[in-house]
Amino acid sequence: MIVVMKIGAPEAEVVRVSEELISWGLSPEKIVGKHKVVLGLVGDTVDLDPLQLQDLSPWIEQVLRVEQPFKRVSREYRHGEASNVAVPIPQGVVHFGEHHPVVVVAGPCSVENEAMIVETAHRVKAAGAKFLRGGAFKPRTSPYAFQGHGESALGLLATAREVTGLGIITEVMDAADLEALAEVADVIQVGARNMQNFSLLKKVGAQDKPVLLKRGMSATIEEWLMAAEYILAAGNANVILCERGIRTFDRQYARNTLDLSAIPVLRALTHLPIMIDPSHGTGRAEYVPAMAMAAIAAGTDALMIEVHPNPAKALSDGPQSLTPDRFDRLMCDLAPIGKVMNRWEQPTAALA
Ligand code: PEP
Ligand code: MN
Repeated sequence: MIVVMKIGAPEAEVVRVSEELISWGLSPEKIVGKHKVVLGLVGDTVDLDPLQLQDLSPWIEQVLRVEQPFKRVSREYRHGEASNVAVPIPQGVVHFGEHHPVVVVAGPCSVENEAMIVETAHRVKAAGAKFLRGGAFKPRTSPYAFQGHGESALGLLATAREVTGLGIITEVMDAADLEALAEVADVIQVGARNMQNFSLLKKVGAQDKPVLLKRGMSATIEEWLMAAEYILAAGNANVILCERGIRTFDRQYARNTLDLSAIPVLRALTHLPIMIDPSHGTGRAEYVPAMAMAAIAAGTDALMIEVHPNPAKALSDGPQSLTPDRFDRLMCDLAPIGKVMNRWEQPTAALA
């Protein structure tokens, strides 16, 4: 349930209403929007009468019931306003959200060695990426496939961060690694295979670093939003949703089916920022540019692109990785679309 206060409601009145709600056994969560203050009430509100709540104060404009099973992530919970996930990185603060430029995250699937991660970091930064991605702990279908270099790769990501000023996004697979990971990562990724690992979701929700929550490969939008709800319910409101392709009946030509309709659907349902990953979404480097362009045109807030200095030799996901040169060209191709959408600030003019 949501209590919307009128524009200009005095702070003392907001406090008084909150205290009254607490005395009723509820936990109001205050959300300060651009124009209004909203009090979100989650928990056992089924027996509450909205009219009874409305009578609490003449400064209450409206009392709404959230009909969706997800509450804190719902668009209504912020009274229709988009949230902005602000991530401090060495270069400054990067904002993910509907009212900000598209943020580009790029880098290899796995961190393989210092030379490749540092070279990739320099190249993607020069092309306009704000974040370097790269897995230290890799969720692989086969136990015999390369599993990532683990903690030592975190050290290499820290080096790349230091020399370039890029932010770092890397995946957590096991809650036991969270602390070490959070020392290096500016955003912690929960991968598709862990989207419904509820104990992991609670743990990333209980720490402070922003979380990138990838959609499970067979997850419905509702299951995905309920997974995000776990993170917000545990106390961390800085969640970015990443569509990375779902499994449909045809896997012959593309690894997954990139669900770009998720962009407008999520926009209507949630205030959380949206990222699109056309690399895992298609599984083929040659299909990445078309889907990246389409994602910007459809209104994505961010893109995740796999880039590797030598895709043919990559230890994971080579076929879907762009070379740095191909990534440069992609950034140039994305610029006009980003500009038309009024969502572009990457320094593409600096590129050859
Ligand atoms: C990745 O980002 O490298 C990855 C493993 O992604 P996903 O969880 O979407 O498969
Ligand atoms: Mn990958």
